[in-house]
Amino acid sequence: MKRTFSIIKPDATKRNITGAINKIIEDNELKIVAQKRIQLSREKAEGFYFVHKDKPFFNELIDYMTSGPVIIQVLEGENAIEKYRKIMGATNPQNADSGTIRKEYALNIQENSVHGSDSEENARIEINYFFKEDEIIT
Ligand code: ATP
Ligand code: MG
Repeated sequence: MKRTFSIIKPDATKRNITGAINKIIEDNELKIVAQKRIQLSREKAEGFYFVHKDKPFFNELIDYMTSGPVIIQVLEGENAIEKYRKIMGATNPQNADSGTIRKEYALNIQENSVHGSDSEENARIEINYFFKEDEIIT
């Protein structure tokens, strides 16, 4: 079993569609083994998206990610990282396949409803950035 880190982003918590997104996650045999609703501080959001610090959209991204609550999750399942990236769909919802979370629910390239880790190393780093091991209950 592999783990990935997920964020249900502020555009989704604002529209009260976190349950709809969790249903897609669970329908695809990913198990939510940890979940918390939190308000990201600017500092925490900047740390999380540090790889994007030189991108032109960085400040806007931090404004958006701190604009309301997020749901942080650890998902477990076979090929969890690749599977969740596939279920999420492309970053820009206009390019996302039908049936994906972003095609169904994302508003635009920024307000794209979910985050999922893109590698095993990043999944480990991101899970540890937000959760203690004893908060993950399988
Ligand atoms: P995530 O890392 O959130 O899972 P991703 O890997 O599909 O998404 P990244 O390229 O890592 O996309 O970008 C991180 C996030 O930054 C995107 O999910 C989106 O919210 C925002 N973003 C990416 N590109 C743009 C852009 N061109 N304009 C505005 N926001 C963007
Ligand atoms: Mg990314």
